[in-house]
Amino acid sequence: MHLHVLGCSGSDLPGYNLTSFLINKTILLDAGSVTSSMPLASQAEVQEILITHAHLDHIKDILFLADNLIELVARNEHGAVRVRGLAPVLESIRTHLLNDTIWPDFTVLPTFSNPVLTYAQLDPGVWVDMAGLRVVTIPVNHATAASGYLLLNPASGRHFAFTGDTGPTDRWWTFLNELPFDLENLIIEASFPNAMEELALLSRHLTPKLLRAELNKLHTRPKIYISHMKSTFSTEIQEQLHQALDGYMFHLLRDGEDIFF
Ligand SMILES: [Zn+2]
Ligand SMILES: [Zn+2]
Repeated sequence: MHLHVLGCSGSDLPGYNLTSFLINKTILLDAGSVTSSMPLASQAEVQEILITHAHLDHIKDILFLADNLIELVARNEHGAVRVRGLAPVLESIRTHLLNDTIWPDFTVLPTFSNPVLTYAQLDPGVWVDMAGLRVVTIPVNHATAASGYLLLNPASGRHFAFTGDTGPTDRWWTFLNELPFDLENLIIEASFPNAMEELALLSRHLTPKLLRAELNKLHTRPKIYISHMKSTFSTEIQEQLHQALDGYMFHLLRDGEDIFF
């Protein structure tokens, strides 16, 4: 499985892109920085968008991707892109974003029968096949509704899980502990430094210390990939991760890098 990091930052600043991963060129996992991070030809390869939650830093480029693809769809050179997520997440996007006020409703454009976007609800814990992969989503603790994802290549058994944004949570870890295989790769957030634990808990994010407490809920030790650091604190967070992740293999994700699971 090929994961290209379009963006993995918790802050929108020059040189820091918001959360978005491209899987095997056709599946977007969150859409915080898509249209500014890849050329139109690559954007046109996208068929699926998996959304963790409806915060703007994870969804905003759904808008601009739809705008970029509409001509291709109108010429029947591109099918509808499926936007997938939990029902309340899709409802938030439908109501507050693609509502014909903030942005056109691309689920009825260019025509009702041939739209740029369609919504596809995912139910927690129910595996779905897409683009040769098996995918499942499990609720985490963030925003009105939020979920992490597990993507599995059934042919090779290779896989990774991505929490999205989350504070301390339980159901997610229970699910991973009950898998019929040991989790090998985990992308997880570390948004704030330890000194900001109160804000982290209020906004339902993790610090390095909270992250370690979460990992202690897991019965295995996957390789850890860190995302969503607030860039202002990234040096401090990195220093604290070295201590917090003692005993783990870990890697700080960088915008633009390629990872092969
Ligand atoms: Zn968020
Ligand atoms: Zn976020």
